Amino acid sequence: MSAAFPNLLGHAQAQEMLLRALARGQLHHAIMLVGPRGIGKATLARALACALLCNVAPGLGCGESSCGICARVLAGNHPDVDWLLPEGAAGQIPIDAARACHLRQQNAPYEGRSYVIVIDPADALNEASGNALLKAIEEPRPGVHFVLLATNMQAVLPTILSRSLPIRLGRLSDEEVGAIVRAKAPELSEERRRMAVLLAEGSAGVALELALDPALDRCLVVLREAIRAALAGPSAVFAGEQGPLWSAFSAAVQALAEAEAAAAAAAAEAAAQTTGKKRRQSAEKSKDEKSEKKPKEAPVHQRWVAGRLAELWTLHLRERTRGREGLPGMPRLDLSASAIVRQIGILQRFVGRVERNASVRLLLEQTLLELGEAA
Ligand SMILES: [Zn+2]
Repeated sequence: MSAAFPNLLGHAQAQEMLLRALARGQLHHAIMLVGPRGIGKATLARALACALLCNVAPGLGCGESSCGICARVLAGNHPDVDWLLPEGAAGQIPIDAARACHLRQQNAPYEGRSYVIVIDPADALNEASGNALLKAIEEPRPGVHFVLLATNMQAVLPTILSRSLPIRLGRLSDEEVGAIVRAKAPELSEERRRMAVLLAEGSAGVALELALDPALDRCLVVLREAIRAALAGPSAVFAGEQGPLWSAFSAAVQALAEAEAAAAAAAAEAAAQTTGKKRRQSAEKSKDEKSEKKPKEAPVHQRWVAGRLAELWTLHLRERTRGREGLPGMPRLDLSASAIVRQIGILQRFVGRVERNASVRLLLEQTLLELGEAA
């Protein structure tokens, strides 16, 4: 059995390599974990930080909640682990945060043997914030470790890239993703988990997001009705508000709006609890005002449902090209391989246009007609 961090599934090769380097005391001071979204780069960064700081199992990290160090690292509040995250509309790591880290590392570490700086993602470092850290990344003090996360190495500043050691993390197997989803969300049904794993294509983060998405069931109903409408043609596409397609669409959009409003109300409530009664009263008042009238369909929610619909439809078609059944509960489709390719192309164009289009419904109608013709 190869060496592995506690409770960390997948990426056996990367885990073994990092643990061997730790055991020899030769861990590179700037590791760059490279791989697609949701495959566990941040999880591995946390495991690495535990290994560098834990006193119960030095060089491995015990990962136990009884260990004050690991518990704080895993919860994201250990003083010797700093996360540099993007801020603002530009989504970049601000120079102030980078400078603070640079100053900090000159006196690091505070409590333990190491000071770990996680840069998530590395391509959010711009020229200014990258330069502020360059010296530290090049010649860090003993015990200072950088862990850079990247989905796209090409987007990382060359000066940063050349000073770090990339470790590529591949997609996880369906078994690994399934095991991670089971561990993190044991309450989910077997069917729901299997579907999320299937859709996530080797990304545990995406699988969890899908499996826990409360709107997923409604979006599956929209997909079923959309496939039916595309097969039936204009009469079903233009069946109107009361038709099965558009009533399912409206229900999904409304459920999304309600979930968002509930989350906002919960956040307001939480804020009220910390700042006193006054705000709580106003939060309750705004909640009452909202529940009085049915919320209007906002384009942002329509786009979200339409985007999820296209994503599910594409994955359903991909599954079919692999000779598998596809998503559960969908109408039977007997499409040729070339028809599937055409349909996937139409769905991709739809995704590209829906962000810029003023009327989501009009665009969706037009797309459904095209999909029907391409069948
Ligand atoms: Zn520990």
